[in-house]
Amino acid sequence: MKKLKIDKDKCIGCGGCEFNCPEVFEINISSGKAEVKAGADLEENKEAIERAMKECPTEAIYEED
Ligand code: SF4
Repeated sequence: MKKLKIDKDKCIGCGGCEFNCPEVFEINISSGKAEVKAGADLEENKEAIERAMKECPTEAIYEED
C-alpha cells in the first residue's frame, strides 16, 4: 500500500487538508505544518484524501510507494 506524505517545505499550514479530512490530517501545533495522523485509515478515507490532495494550494500532499 502507498504511503501518504506531506512535503514540509511546500506546506504553508493553511489547514485545508485538516478541514477536508480531519480523520487523516492534522496541523502540528509546534511546526505549524500538516501531518498524517499515526494509524489513520487511508483506505476508509480515500475520497476525502483525494479532495485534500486536489485542494492543497501548494500540492504538498503526495503518495509514495
Ligand atoms: S492543505 Fe496543503 S498547504 Fe494546507 S496545511 Fe494541508 S498540506 Fe499544508
